[in-house]
Amino acid sequence: MSFLVPELIRKKRLGTELSKSEIDFLVDGFSTNKIEDYQIAAWLMACFVKPLTETEVLNLTEAMKNSGHVIHWEKQTNIKSHDLCDKHSTGGVGDKVSIILAPLVAEMGLKVPMMSGRGLGFTGGTVDKLESIPGFQMVLEQSAENKALLDSGFVMLKQSETLCPADKKLYALRDVTATVEDVGLITASIVSKKWAAGVRNIVYDVKCGPAAFMSEYSDAKRLARSLVAVSKRAGMNARALITRMDEPLGSCVGNGIEILESTWILRNSYPSENHKRIAAPLVELITLTAAHMYQLCRPNTSLEENQKLAYQILDSGAAFKRFLKMIEIQSLNCHNQKQSPQAVLETLEAQINRAPRMQIKAKKDGILKNIRSRDLGLIGIDLKIGREKTSDSVDSVAGFVLNKQVGDTIQMGDVLAEVIQGQVLPSAEILQKIEKIFEITNEPPSTGDSKRFRSTLFLEVINT
Ligand code: URA
Repeated sequence: MSFLVPELIRKKRLGTELSKSEIDFLVDGFSTNKIEDYQIAAWLMACFVKPLTETEVLNLTEAMKNSGHVIHWEKQTNIKSHDLCDKHSTGGVGDKVSIILAPLVAEMGLKVPMMSGRGLGFTGGTVDKLESIPGFQMVLEQSAENKALLDSGFVMLKQSETLCPADKKLYALRDVTATVEDVGLITASIVSKKWAAGVRNIVYDVKCGPAAFMSEYSDAKRLARSLVAVSKRAGMNARALITRMDEPLGSCVGNGIEILESTWILRNSYPSENHKRIAAPLVELITLTAAHMYQLCRPNTSLEENQKLAYQILDSGAAFKRFLKMIEIQSLNCHNQKQSPQAVLETLEAQINRAPRMQIKAKKDGILKNIRSRDLGLIGIDLKIGREKTSDSVDSVAGFVLNKQVGDTIQMGDVLAEVIQGQVLPSAEILQKIEKIFEITNEPPSTGDSKRFRSTLFLEVINT
């Protein structure tokens, strides 16, 4: 069916719902270069000003999903739909949850084909972190993907060029037309990729706070509701957790160093008690997300029991063994150089340990009231930990190791953090900026309990 594009733009501008065939026409025309970018840009702005209805979001999601290859794990592997589970986070600073969660949930008995993205702006991406593992490959032949999922219970993949190509093109246009922050467009972008990736059960972690994509709670809740509603209408079993993103997650921020921290958590074996203490809220988030994923696939189980099981698995080191198995399957260093997965991780650790470190020290006594994580993420872009543009490359060695947590009592001269130097030498100006992300106060909270500066991590579970 053919339509006049200006008429479709006008219709949306007036706030009238577009039909499925009209949306299919726009997405297909844009993907095949038959409709001009400037027309789609105008339509995107119309969608921003006159928000898409839920049905329009669903139709847009489906059209984007159909723009490329669609994975059917059940047909490829004989795995049952109720065993296939994934998780998606809207992204945060130090967010390494997927790397630990996938082997953990696989050890609980589910199959996790984890499809991840690169980082952009102040948040890091799982792909960048995993690619710091020497020789790590995230695009595999279909037979290798199937084997990995069957053998290790999970596989860590990145979005290929053929998965939702319309999303890539639309996102690039949204980025330059100030139309990124729209709940309907974000939902279609996220859910289309999950749908195309063959996900059947999904837990969304919608982050909220100053270091999240959604800083306001009301916006995070609208996004969570929209993700769940559209996923369900697309035939997926879905749930969303709204969680705070204030402090960085864990003690490490950086691509390679977050892999090392993930291995500490997977083995429940940390270089120091302080690392373990700072990682505790992250571990709580991981085990609770695992509990929700398991309950989504096994509705008769209890969250408390599931979370207890998740903690036991981390204690036992069984999820770490699965992680090593995954490296064995996905790292070329294991295949070509016949290195063991342990040796591959040791290579990464040696690269990080060889790098010079700079200490950031407190200039006064007081209580650590806040760690400005968004600013830390932005400084990370200067140090090539993160990227500003999708085409930028990132550094696998550079990173930050935090020594303190919000609520801690600080004495002048205490080491607040260490900066691991990668390709970019941190200038005096950058080091000063890092110092400023630690907000130290002399006034305790009105309750007198310094821990009150810490906010509750879990805000709400959204099921509908
Ligand atoms: N993440 C996505 O994948 N798409 C968006 O539009 C925003 C965040």
